[in-house]
Amino acid sequence: MVSLLVTNLGELVTNDPTLGDGPLGLRRDAAIVIEDGRVAWIGDAAAAPAADERRDAEGRAGLPGFVDSHAHLVFAGDRAAEFAARMAGEPYTGGGIRTTVAATRAASDDALRANVVRLRREALRQGTTTIEIKSGYGLSVADEARSLRIAAEFTDETTFLGAHVVPADREPDDYVKDVCGEMLAACSPYAKWVDVFCERGAFDGEQSRAVLIAGRKAGLGLRVHANQLGPGPGVQLAVELGAASADHCTHLTDQDVAALSGSGTVAALLPGAEFSTRSPYPDARRLLDAGVTVALATDCNPGSSYTSSMPFCIALAVREMRITPAEAVHAATAGGARALRRDDVGRRRSPTAPWSQWAKAGRSARTAPASVRRRRCSRPDCDRSSWRPRRGWRSSTAPTACSACCCWPCTTSPTCSPWPT
Ligand SMILES: [Zn+2]
Repeated sequence: MVSLLVTNLGELVTNDPTLGDGPLGLRRDAAIVIEDGRVAWIGDAAAAPAADERRDAEGRAGLPGFVDSHAHLVFAGDRAAEFAARMAGEPYTGGGIRTTVAATRAASDDALRANVVRLRREALRQGTTTIEIKSGYGLSVADEARSLRIAAEFTDETTFLGAHVVPADREPDDYVKDVCGEMLAACSPYAKWVDVFCERGAFDGEQSRAVLIAGRKAGLGLRVHANQLGPGPGVQLAVELGAASADHCTHLTDQDVAALSGSGTVAALLPGAEFSTRSPYPDARRLLDAGVTVALATDCNPGSSYTSSMPFCIALAVREMRITPAEAVHAATAGGARALRRDDVGRRRSPTAPWSQWAKAGRSARTAPASVRRRRCSRPDCDRSSWRPRRGWRSSTAPTACSACCCWPCTTSPTCSPWPT
């Protein structure tokens, strides 16, 4: 067993109030020890135990890796014109999804895969260490299964969203039968979750209920796109069926807030969508004051929220949704982990990432698996080894050289990019 001691963390977020100040469990001048891929010790730098390896964080902050619990990365095509239309005053209705469906169906596997690689790399460089990826731009048995097969190459958190919109050439009830039958059977081997866009113009309450119950019977966990464009049954349905999250939550009644506050369903807020569509933001303050668990996620997609940046969503949440920076950081880390019902995520760190990307999510830093292991450097002239992500970030895109050969920012060569393209 090899241990790594990280010292001189100017500020460390533990998300465990028993370990430090406030809800974030904030510690100053902190150190951590990672043993066998798990955080084995957290404390004051002065009391740090010995370890096999030692790193100096040089006063940087350490915080949990961001957990992006809502992203649509498997797509092709461009919808930049929609942004111009929104800014010119056209309302968002969700209709542009069909534009992406046509482009996605026409794209090759390699093109779809390359898009996921690009966006996931972008997300990682901004501190996201766990990401959920949905299907939803295939909307046929073969295209939905293909989307999920590709998504599963990159994350454990895959979501079947055949019920995104009704394809233009299909009758709604007939399509729902397909989603609950043949499409679900083809997709469930690659999916952990099932989701439905419960919204006027997409799927009504009863159609959404049918999709969720069929998904649950197939062994999938439940998530719901709920109450984004107007009031509706989505949130109540999510709570009633025990969904892990109700996502968007922009238009809520008092009954919706009360239902969420007494439940295990997380309200996942996606302010990138409101920013991109110039729509009213969800009232995060109201939800937090009612005791609801809130997550922040990007909703990364080509039409209504084309960003992979959790820091941007945190900034939006603080500026536009009246929550504090500490609450936003908690929602983007521990909140996201709860939305995925994970107690072991957000702890993967890349050896070449800044220490600010060191991470855990969930409450207990003491027992957090860091999910790193030693790997030998890929450079033939180097015999060093380094800490590498254990899983989740695939070797095809993870850095392949040790930190001495490839650091970030690179100190060896001004033109070096440690992230393979
Ligand atoms: Zn979405």
